[in-house]
Amino acid sequence: MAHKAAKENRTKLLLDEKDIPRRWYNIQADLKTPAPAVLHPGTGKPIGPQDLAPLFPMALIQQEVSRERWIAIPDEIRDVYRLWRPSPLYRARRLERVLDTPARIYYKYEGVSPAGSHKPNTAVAQAYYNRKERVARIATETGAGQWGSALAMACNFFGLQCKVYMVKVSYQQKPYRRVMMETWGAQVVPSPSPDTQAGKKVLQQDPDSPGSLGIAISEAVEDAATRDDTKYSLGSVLNHVLMHQTVIGLEAKKQLEKADDEADMVIGCAGGGSNFAGLSFPFAADKLAGRKKNLRIIAVEPSACPSLTKGKYVYDFGDTVGLTPLVKMHTLGHSFVPPPLHAGGLRYHGMAPLVSKLYDEGVIEAVAVPQVATFQAALQFARTEGIIPAPESAHAIRVVIDEALRCKAEDKKQTILFNLSGHGHFDLGAYDAFLTGRLQDYEYPAQKIDAALRGLPKVRG
Ligand SMILES: *Cc1c(COP(=O)(O)O)cnc(C)c1O
Repeated sequence: MAHKAAKENRTKLLLDEKDIPRRWYNIQADLKTPAPAVLHPGTGKPIGPQDLAPLFPMALIQQEVSRERWIAIPDEIRDVYRLWRPSPLYRARRLERVLDTPARIYYKYEGVSPAGSHKPNTAVAQAYYNRKERVARIATETGAGQWGSALAMACNFFGLQCKVYMVKVSYQQKPYRRVMMETWGAQVVPSPSPDTQAGKKVLQQDPDSPGSLGIAISEAVEDAATRDDTKYSLGSVLNHVLMHQTVIGLEAKKQLEKADDEADMVIGCAGGGSNFAGLSFPFAADKLAGRKKNLRIIAVEPSACPSLTKGKYVYDFGDTVGLTPLVKMHTLGHSFVPPPLHAGGLRYHGMAPLVSKLYDEGVIEAVAVPQVATFQAALQFARTEGIIPAPESAHAIRVVIDEALRCKAEDKKQTILFNLSGHGHFDLGAYDAFLTGRLQDYEYPAQKIDAALRGLPKVRG
């Protein structure tokens, strides 16, 4: 027992570089039924690898549909991962004390990556496979700039050019993420831009258009589809992106073992679903195999953009314009434009198909939380643990605190694990709004969502 007690005293659970996972976990191997097919937007028929070849390198297309349980991580990728992986697992002792809870709270901190979030875990992998297939240039979109900066860094490491279409309001209001991307060598333009037909069309109709993620996706996809040297890259939602993020959960499992502990709850915020899946899928594997039936896995979304808790599980487009293939997912309708939440990374109309499927099957739960309560949780976390969380991550913290208080009320010693997906150093404007009482909750946009759901494409399935 002395040995166990000593271990349990630790605040930081660290792994060695040699413990960086050598394989990604592919949950598609363990699903009871295969994930629904992706459909061609024109024909409504399942698409094949060749349909995606103009946009993605073949290695990533194969990973997208693979049903192998483990996929080897190439040494070149592990080599870059070594700059910040294994990331630390913290025991949130100071938060536990303030909450006076019998629950044990742990967080996996992905803000230690150079870009400040979990996104480089997939950006590095995607840049590597593009480079390996002799792609010279990658086009992508970014909202607030988290994804763009992760990809800019990764492209720089592998000698690829990177063009980022950045939603114009963010480009104007949040210059620092743009400067980061440029520091790592990317070319950044405000979207809508005159560089693409899609952008030109929007600018003709509205020269002062503030842009949207949907427009930026259309521009990046057009850029990649019309140039031989260029492919497209996405920072969330797709199966291969979620798989690359499983390094988070694989490490966290080892770290909890080191602490002689086991998770009763695994919690993450969910926008497109990648950091949530990255932490939780390796734990969901145990549940799917019948080993941990009581494990609760909770995705947390904003109540103003509640794709899991209020959306429909149907086929929809991935973008606003309707250019992408149709995927079956929980969606609020592709034309739904979420309110201007400060958690920009959670403003997406849909949810990753794999996360949607697990929710539909009852393997995972979902909770929606409002913005002001989320920032209250962020402040409590910053004032106990020190780290200022990204507003996205703070959604997870809200539910962690609520669950820890429930444990207190019920006198239960449960173990809670959550993903602190990034730091909030570029989101201090949002903190300022909260601290000065200007941050508001948005009503659940019921009418706008109803309207968007009526515009869903008609597909059987
Ligand atoms: C982008 C982002 C998210 C949301 O994306 P997911 O794919 O849902 O993980 C969450 N947290 C941070 C810090 C982000 O940058």
